[in-house]
Amino acid sequence: MKNLHIRTELPGPKARALIARDALVVSPSYPRDYPFVMSHGRAAEVWDVDGNRFLDFAAGIAVCSTGHSHPAVVAAVKAAADRFLHISSDYWHEGQVLLGERIDALAPMREPVMSFFTQSGTESVEGALKLARFVTGRQRFIGFLGGFHGRTMGSLAFTASKYTQQKGFFANMPGVTHVPYPNAFRPLLAGPDQGRAVLAYIEDVLFVSNVPAAEVAAILIEPILGEGGYVVPPDGFLAGLRALCDRHGILLIFDEVQSGIGRTGKLFACEHSQVAPDIMTLAKGLGSGMPIGMVVAKRSIMQRWTRGAHGNTYGGNPLCCAAALATLDLVTAEYCANAARVGAYFLGQLSALAERFEVIGEVRGKGLMIGMELVTDRATRAPARSLCDALITRAYHNGLILLSCGASTVRFMPPLLISTAQVDEALELLERSLIEALGTTR
Ligand code: PLP
Repeated sequence: MKNLHIRTELPGPKARALIARDALVVSPSYPRDYPFVMSHGRAAEVWDVDGNRFLDFAAGIAVCSTGHSHPAVVAAVKAAADRFLHISSDYWHEGQVLLGERIDALAPMREPVMSFFTQSGTESVEGALKLARFVTGRQRFIGFLGGFHGRTMGSLAFTASKYTQQKGFFANMPGVTHVPYPNAFRPLLAGPDQGRAVLAYIEDVLFVSNVPAAEVAAILIEPILGEGGYVVPPDGFLAGLRALCDRHGILLIFDEVQSGIGRTGKLFACEHSQVAPDIMTLAKGLGSGMPIGMVVAKRSIMQRWTRGAHGNTYGGNPLCCAAALATLDLVTAEYCANAARVGAYFLGQLSALAERFEVIGEVRGKGLMIGMELVTDRATRAPARSLCDALITRAYHNGLILLSCGASTVRFMPPLLISTAQVDEALELLERSLIEALGTTR
């Protein structure tokens, strides 16, 4: 059946012209998968420059939490812009204080927190790492294979989801040791409980033979693995990690850049396991598209940072703070609960799809952070990489914006306001795309 929203061949003539101009003046390093050229968006729909309409199940990589150009967010940004565009972090302004207070009330730490304002996920991670080193006086860190934390030299030292992100940049920040992210679908260690196995590996192998616990400043982890494959860790794992950190005076940092701000049906993904970090990093969904991130730490930790120890020029920009406050209003009032409800429906429908298509090895996730892992066969679970790429491309041609993650996982991260009717539309487009992709890759 033809999608009436797609009116031209894809990419259309205006998109092709723009992409040709871009190729001459824009860095080729951006990992672009297919030629969508944005014109405008509303809620969960986006239009390209040729007038084709798409359902957006990528939300600018989990950024447009309240959808595209939510009127309340746009109004807040416009009102802030009318007052002043910038003052720098050398001075005070109310939006920044309000946002700090708001996060203090909402953070999962169960004790007062303080915040440092950034403009991106990677800058939040850099800040968290510097804070951990500064307050512990320790140099080493533990990160996770499959983790993604950004692309600047500190965060890149942890990023281990695809080698292309590392290639050509050695040596970055020293002192990071990686351990497996517990993944029941693709276990790297022996034993039925990958969570326990990873904890035992850290405590009984790493700490004993190579990385003394007393030298480790912090363990940095995504409470649900994002770029590395949308993997939910086994029950009890984060609690075990918390206990391990407490035993050794190690700080626990949760990177909630992708999983935070209602995406998983709770405000922060770590709330599913009721485990609190010492430090948390935020960005992406916090500003609905305006570039804002935060390093959030227990007050007992962040207040030990001395004047001048860390800073920036743009942190806490007034337009971004206004966007974040409006976003938090919308997410806490409505969209977080919507993510839980519609996400559960979506997961159920995808599981039904998995019963009909052998190539779907696993469907998993929380709220509207859902992954569908494709395999060449269910027994070996070998990743179906080219099928995944073909599916993402076919989905674009059918009017559905998707992204992949991990080796062969389709990730679904629509705006948190998505309706079940839009999920049904996406499922129809997805199934059609999967059938077409199977036709081209067999
Ligand atoms: N941390 C996580 C968990 C992420 O998913 C990302 C980006 O995808 C980052 C950090 C880096 O964020 P940014 O691209 O804003 O630097």
